[in-house]
Amino acid sequence: MKLYNFTELRAIAKERKFQAIGSFNLHCLEMLPAFFKAAKETNSPLMIQISTGTAQFLGYELIVDSIKSLSKTLDVPACLHLDHCSNIDDIKKAIDTGFSSVMYDGSHLPLEENIANTKIVIEYAHPRNVTVEGELGAIGGSEDGKAVAESDIAFTTPEEVQAFVDGTNVDMLAISIGTVHGSYTAKTNIQHELLNRITQLTKTPLVLHGGTGVSDEDMRLVVASGIEKVNVGTEMNVQWVGNVQKTCAEGKVDDSVRKFLIPANNAVQEVLKQKIQLFQ
Ligand SMILES: [Zn+2]
Repeated sequence: MKLYNFTELRAIAKERKFQAIGSFNLHCLEMLPAFFKAAKETNSPLMIQISTGTAQFLGYELIVDSIKSLSKTLDVPACLHLDHCSNIDDIKKAIDTGFSSVMYDGSHLPLEENIANTKIVIEYAHPRNVTVEGELGAIGGSEDGKAVAESDIAFTTPEEVQAFVDGTNVDMLAISIGTVHGSYTAKTNIQHELLNRITQLTKTPLVLHGGTGVSDEDMRLVVASGIEKVNVGTEMNVQWVGNVQKTCAEGKVDDSVRKFLIPANNAVQEVLKQKIQLFQ
């Protein structure tokens, strides 16, 4: 079974009456079956994203092979996306190994440099049928352990969106409109008016990062306003670790390892199902 790029997966999602695609961070290989079960139960295609750190930890090949195998066995169309990466060599490695979508994050660079580097990635990715996500603006919180200072958070400006999409021909664009990476204790304050101004400027699919901190009500609103990909990462991590902490504290060392993991995977499956239903 082939992996689908974002544009292909989006077409399948639309056929199945989903307005947006959730892109869910895989934090460890053990949680992967839970992702697929949730997609199967909701008749949704599945977009899985992974950080460069986790990709290096697990091995790029193992991830590609595992996702292809489950996609075929369960008959769930899947896309494998490399999340936030600013190293072009790592991006090329992911593409060469079989990832079907990548994100080049040049949001920390001046606009011209961000455009130039995103174009380099696109020139490598598009002939290989791989979609590319770019980013404009600075999203708060932390990404792969690196914290963004409060003073560095910057909302995406509509003027830059125009220049960026015209200059790159990017497949999807991550924007900063108030969400925060890693937020799970409080809900974030979304700039709906800014989102509406940006959606009127471009047909390029827009991406919302930090989906964990978005209330269900805001999630429905942003999807109705035109957000087409929503990244959800922290919530699965929190549920998984929280459940494993509990089962490990209660269990014995000679209990089968899987007994510690089953409640964690069940919780992750519920997170995905609940989010996916908001996109219908
Ligand atoms: Zn992100």
